Amino acid sequence: MINAHRLRKLSRNNLRIVYGLILIVLLSALFRGQPTADTTEATTLATLAAPTTTQSTTAAVTVTPTTPSTPSHNETVVVHFLDVGQGHATVFQVGEHALIIDGGPRDASSFVVAYLKKMGVVTVDAIIATHYDSDHIYGLVGVLNAFPVLSVYDANYRADTKVFTSFKTAVSAEKCPEFTPAQGDRIAFADLADLEVTFVGPRDYYYDEENDNSLAIRLDYGQASYLIMGDTSSDTEQDMLGQNLDVDILLASHHGSNGSNSPDFLSATSPAHIVISCGADNSYGHPGEYALKRIQKTESELFRTDLQGTLVCQTDGNQINWNQSPANDFTPGD
Ligand SMILES: [Zn+2]
Repeated sequence: MINAHRLRKLSRNNLRIVYGLILIVLLSALFRGQPTADTTEATTLATLAAPTTTQSTTAAVTVTPTTPSTPSHNETVVVHFLDVGQGHATVFQVGEHALIIDGGPRDASSFVVAYLKKMGVVTVDAIIATHYDSDHIYGLVGVLNAFPVLSVYDANYRADTKVFTSFKTAVSAEKCPEFTPAQGDRIAFADLADLEVTFVGPRDYYYDEENDNSLAIRLDYGQASYLIMGDTSSDTEQDMLGQNLDVDILLASHHGSNGSNSPDFLSATSPAHIVISCGADNSYGHPGEYALKRIQKTESELFRTDLQGTLVCQTDGNQINWNQSPANDFTPGD
């Protein structure tokens, strides 16, 4: 289903890697006459690489390893990029447990709660609010009212809006711990298959523009990695460089706005897949023409909620499977 040419290319490359590893092991054994230790290491590497060589007939997209070899992962992490219209809501789900990053705008609030229930979510282990704009946190108030929420992570600034007050009131009523993470903070969630979360932004909460104080979140599960952006602008994206931002899937910043998604940032993240969350016919012109041109240059596969609705992908830590093919449609919003 997904770009068979790219898949074959990846598979051939991986085959070459496996053959190369075997050759290296044989050569080192020949020259040193002590095959034991090296053989063990190479077998482990080859085993990790092997599954990618058998996927050419499925819809799987092979994940390019961005982290060193990791132990095997038995559970499935399902990632839902919800179609909340003009706004953002992403859910990482493991069975009955979920981590939710943003909850979409007011008119999507009941949809988000109904969707989570339909998916069998019982406990929300963490809510992460990237920032306090209504199109990101309104739906989180609904989630806080409908589910037990065990922890909340949000940005360290105050907004002078009704929805900010509603959100903070709902968090207080939940009586769960609330954290304002610092850049570089890492956490793992035991009930979410040890999914690792790293806060890569903001550098600090000192930006004049509220959008620039958005949390930027890296998530790792085995060899699969994701970077979920809030509404950070290009200037502030620069303040995140120098960390490990290389991921498989990037949620484009600020709904694919021209003022975000700079060439430097796209190059540092080098995602195989980019997702844009925005509303069909939104009044902001998202995604922007120039941002789309920059994204097109990366040759990443492009997915869009405004054209494709809710997007779902799942991973076992080795490969990522999508529920539909990429849109690869670079038509800007009006
Ligand atoms: Zn927004």
